[in-house]
Amino acid sequence: MPPFDPSALAFATRAVHAGTAPDPATGARAQPIYFTNGFVFESNEQAADIFAMRATGFSYSRGSNPTVAALERRVASLEGAKAAVAVSSGQSAMLLVLLTLMQAGDAYVSAARLFGGSLGLMRRLETRYGLTPQFTRGLNPEDFEAAITDKTRVIVCESIVNPCGTVVDIAGVAAVARRHGLPLVVDNTLASPALIRPIEYGADIVVHSTSKFLSGSGTVIGGIVCDAGRFDWKATGRYNLINEPWPDYEGLVVSDRFPETAFAVACRLFGLRDLGPGLSPMNAFLTLTGIETLPLRMERHCANARAVAAFLKAHPKVAWVSYPSLPGQAGEAVANRYVPNGAGSIFTFALKGGEQAALDFISGLELISHLVNIGEIKSLAIHPATTTHRQLRDDEKAAACVGPETVRLSIGLETIEDLIADIEQALAKLP
Ligand SMILES: *Cc1c(COP(=O)(O)O)cnc(C)c1O
Repeated sequence: MPPFDPSALAFATRAVHAGTAPDPATGARAQPIYFTNGFVFESNEQAADIFAMRATGFSYSRGSNPTVAALERRVASLEGAKAAVAVSSGQSAMLLVLLTLMQAGDAYVSAARLFGGSLGLMRRLETRYGLTPQFTRGLNPEDFEAAITDKTRVIVCESIVNPCGTVVDIAGVAAVARRHGLPLVVDNTLASPALIRPIEYGADIVVHSTSKFLSGSGTVIGGIVCDAGRFDWKATGRYNLINEPWPDYEGLVVSDRFPETAFAVACRLFGLRDLGPGLSPMNAFLTLTGIETLPLRMERHCANARAVAAFLKAHPKVAWVSYPSLPGQAGEAVANRYVPNGAGSIFTFALKGGEQAALDFISGLELISHLVNIGEIKSLAIHPATTTHRQLRDDEKAAACVGPETVRLSIGLETIEDLIADIEQALAKLP
C-alpha cells in the first residue's frame, strides 16, 4: 500500500495519486510495470499460507500482480469501493459478476437497454448455462421492481445507457434492490467515476469496461469489478461462493474471513484463479496513466458532446437526438440530478432520411472516425443496428432504442468548431 492515505484527498488528486507511490526499491515515480508471472516465496510456510488464503501476497500473476493491484486500488478509491478486481475486458467483468453470484436455475433482473455485448452475453448464459435475465420494460425504478420474482438474485443496470445516453435513477433502483434484499450491479462505463459514483447512490457492485474513458486513448482492452463492501451477504443465506465453505481452501467461508470485501474475494478466487481472465500489467499501466487525466477529460468530453447534440437537434435533416442533458429531452430531470454538467459523450441521433441517410452520414464523415469503440479522445461514429447491436432481434433493438435510422456518436476532445464543421459537411452531402 502507498505510504500515505489518499482517501481524504479530492477526486482529481486521487485520480493522480491513489493506489501508487514512489517505488521503494528504485525511487521510480511512475508505477513500475511488473512483467513477471511468478513471485519468489520467502518460505514453504509463506507459500502454503498464500495458497490457502491465510496470508496476502503475490504468487502468480493470473490472480494478482503489483501493477494490476495499483490499478485496482486507484479505481476502488475513485468509486468509493472497498476493493476492486481488474480483468481482461469489460465483457469479462460482467461475466465474472454474474457467474460469481449465480448458478444454473437462478435469475436476475436487468435493464432491457444495455450495451449490445452485455445483451448477447446474457442471452448465451441463459440458453447454455440456465441463468435467466428478467428484462425490465423501462428504466424507471418501478420497472425493475415489477420484474423481480422469487428466483431473482441480482439487479443489473447501466448508469448512463449505451448507446442512447439515458441516465438511470440509480438511487431509485438501489432502493428497490434494498427492499428485496438483492445486490445492485451498475455498469458505470459511460459515466466513469468522474461523472457518477454509483456506490454513493446505493449500488453494491460497480463494473467498468476500462477500454473506454478510464484508459481514455483507445489503446487497451480491460475491465474492472468494484465491491462497495456493504451488502449483507450472510443475511440472505444465498450466494454459495460467498457464504458456503470452499472445500479446496480448508473450508474457507469467504464472508466470515473477509466480511468487508467478501464479493471481491469470491470474484478473484473463482473469477481469476478458476476462470482466468486476468489483466496484463502493461494494460494496467496504460490504464493507470489514462486515469490521471480522467477528471479533466470528462469535462471536455461533456462540453463537446452537449454542443454537438445541440447543433444536431437544431439541424433540419435530423429527426431526433437522444442526449438527455438538452432542454426538453426525455429523461432531462434525472440527467440534471445525476450529471448536471452533461450526460457523458456517447449518444444517438436519427436522420429524417432513415437508414440510408444514417449510413451515408457515417461514410461522409472525414474527421470523425467510423469505428466501434466509445469513450476515447478521438470522436467516433457507428451504425449500431448493423454492428454493435446487430445480433439482437428487431424487438430487442427497439427496446435498446437502436433502430435502423440510429447513429451513435462518441464525442472526443477535438476543438468543437472542427467537430461541428465535419458533421455539417457530412449532413450537407445528404439529399
Ligand atoms: C464496451 C462496453 C462493455 C464491454 O467492454 P470491453 O472492454 O469491450 O469488453 C461493457 N459495458 C459497456 C457499457 C460498454 O460500453
